[in-house]
Amino acid sequence: MPIPVQETPQGALIGDVEFVWAKNAKEFFFSNSIVVHEADVLVVDPSANFSFFEKIASQNKVQTVLNTHYHIDHRSLNHLFPHARFMCHELDKPAILSFDNYLKYADPNPDSSYVMWLKGIYSSLEIQEQSIHQTLKGEDYLPSKGIKIKVLHLPGHTPGHIGLLFEELKVLYISDIDLTPMGPWYANVSSDIDQFLDSIQRIRDIKVDYYISSHGERVYEPEKFLEKLDRFTEAFRKRDERILENLQTGAKNLEELAETGIIYKASQLGDPLKRCFQLQMLQKHLDRLVEQKKIVVADRHYSLSSS
Ligand SMILES: [Zn+2]
Repeated sequence: MPIPVQETPQGALIGDVEFVWAKNAKEFFFSNSIVVHEADVLVVDPSANFSFFEKIASQNKVQTVLNTHYHIDHRSLNHLFPHARFMCHELDKPAILSFDNYLKYADPNPDSSYVMWLKGIYSSLEIQEQSIHQTLKGEDYLPSKGIKIKVLHLPGHTPGHIGLLFEELKVLYISDIDLTPMGPWYANVSSDIDQFLDSIQRIRDIKVDYYISSHGERVYEPEKFLEKLDRFTEAFRKRDERILENLQTGAKNLEELAETGIIYKASQLGDPLKRCFQLQMLQKHLDRLVEQKKIVVADRHYSLSSS
């Protein structure tokens, strides 16, 4: 029998592990969080709910804070825990330790709207450059005394993106393989489509009772999880198809393709942030299609392979 899921004022409790839903989830800078309620409390991605985490911090029981990757929306309340031990995957450590590194991981253009937006968020959210006391690799166990929490390295969204397998509870936390209708997000220099696809395949094979991601207030049971995961995975293929379809009318450069709305709809491209994301994700598809010999590039223009 699966362990029952209990609703709490701020989320869902499974065993001693509380999943805290992001308030203001429509904004980019909040994600779901996890609190492992043991004598030494472990917090994952503190950001979901300021008043709740302020209360948790005031009890002085939080020993460890884990960030599942370097993105700001997963660590916007790290500063509430100045005495905790901080952990992350070793590959995301540089971007957590230094905001300059963060920007290099994020965008090749230091003057882009995305970089400007990140700078604004960073200064408004009190995210200080901080220490990392312990780095993780895949397959490590977290220092949690009561329950076994295994680290799963799931790169692609970022190089050091991790999920967590709560073994006895049969719960898999998949962080930003987030199953949202928008589909997968890989608009960072450090993101990688093939790694993302491998990570998706890896979680597909893990059979547990519950699946939870970092966006959306949902505990998925296996059937719904697989349905959502299929749709989420399909987005990669659909984006490729839209590019190939577009090139049927002749060669185009990156900017011309981006105007047509491959990842975001053309109607959404009034948002300068989405324009930046679209350019970065599109470029990754184009590089990959060239590598697969489905398209060729000459003089910055892409066209269908003749073979
Ligand atoms: Zn993220």
